[in-house]
Amino acid sequence: MRGGPRVLLTIWAAKLAALALRVTGRAGTHVPGRIARRLHPGIIGAIRHPARVVVVTGTNGKTTVSNLLAEALQGEGMRVASNRSGSNLAAGVAMTLIDAVTWTGRSRADVAVLEMDERSAKLILPGLVPDILVCTNLTRDSIKRNAHPDYIAWVISSALPASTTLVLNADDLIASSIGSDANPRTHFAVDRLPTDGDTPHGAAVDAAICPVCDAPLVWDYWRFNHIGRAHCPNGDFRSPTAAYRAQQVDGPNRRVVLDLDGDARPATLINPNIVNVYNEVAVAAVLDRLGIARERLVSAFDRLQPPTTRFQEETVGGVELVRLLTKGLVGVACSRAFEYLASFSGRKAVVLNIDEVSERTTDVENTAWTYDADYDYLATSDVQQIVVGESAATTRRCGSRSRACRRSASSRWRRSSPRPTRSTSRARRRCSTCTACTTRSSPAPRCRRACASG
Ligand SMILES: [Zn+2]
Repeated sequence: MRGGPRVLLTIWAAKLAALALRVTGRAGTHVPGRIARRLHPGIIGAIRHPARVVVVTGTNGKTTVSNLLAEALQGEGMRVASNRSGSNLAAGVAMTLIDAVTWTGRSRADVAVLEMDERSAKLILPGLVPDILVCTNLTRDSIKRNAHPDYIAWVISSALPASTTLVLNADDLIASSIGSDANPRTHFAVDRLPTDGDTPHGAAVDAAICPVCDAPLVWDYWRFNHIGRAHCPNGDFRSPTAAYRAQQVDGPNRRVVLDLDGDARPATLINPNIVNVYNEVAVAAVLDRLGIARERLVSAFDRLQPPTTRFQEETVGGVELVRLLTKGLVGVACSRAFEYLASFSGRKAVVLNIDEVSERTTDVENTAWTYDADYDYLATSDVQQIVVGESAATTRRCGSRSRACRRSASSRWRRSSPRPTRSTSRARRRCSTCTACTTRSSPAPRCRRACASG
């Protein structure tokens, strides 16, 4: 078998670790994956791969695109290995590949669809050598973690094998040019929309000058951030031409025309949010590159649904409720959510739950991300109410007695010093009049110090 006895021992150890986790009622791929990488750091390259390997990366949309791809390929009757519920770091990818082989190391999947964290490219791509890499976009992410999208483009490019075919977003001035001249590539795009402008505005535009001569770019149309089509006035740069394009996007009727390399076909629009229009055309491009018949490719969108982890919609008592989850501490992701909310007609109330959990353990709360968000989208007369508060997760934690919740409660106390004694802290959590805490007993005892009424 590929890699020899060390690979086999690594596979057994990881599978046994995963089995032990399941027996004890715990899920997860990270720990077995880490064990595998500890035993064999090159396991991603050494293990037997499915016949086709597709990697999906990018700042936003990689979970949606990889889930849709996996589902579409399963619909084609293929056995698909995918880390859709697992980690997209090297350990998660390693464990997904281990899950896709038997105890003797034989592959039992036809294709692997692997979501990859952009910053893990150097740990994953050289060994994996994917047939296809999709990059959905590269926009600003958490600045503490990902720095600038140009840096992330460099991280991916420097790890890309020359044989990997790239499927790139032509409308993204940064993501569209990753890789080297050796990489075969094709592009996808969304044709000009009525809402597009001629000149960029907003808080975050990360590509505005020609990469060759530094002249300010001229925009054919501008959509958001550095997404749109642009060219250099001196003629030495132009956004690439897309072979796969979404045209005639009809949000209310959920219809779109997918131009598959010159072959235009009407299709169901899985979701009218612009980020999901990009996701759909990216999926169409990959399926076409994998040789799926175009009739079946297009009809697959009749049944595909974007994952509900980041988007949910329901009507309650005649009121339409839309829940959008954006990446924590990422202003440009908030802008897309605001833009989508602005596209709804009628009176709106917006509830912004801010993630306070991510930085709970740090001494300094970094609020820089909020300046990247375009709140202008909410400054319209139909937005009648905006409610801002911390995330429900934080509140729930505060109300329970778990270890994590005590930390959360104490961090809130730190901000409203003096630090409480243990007995005061316990009293506050159980207080019936403090708005910051939930109570579990009724009637609850009142705080001795925290409440004026106590
Ligand atoms: Zn130029």
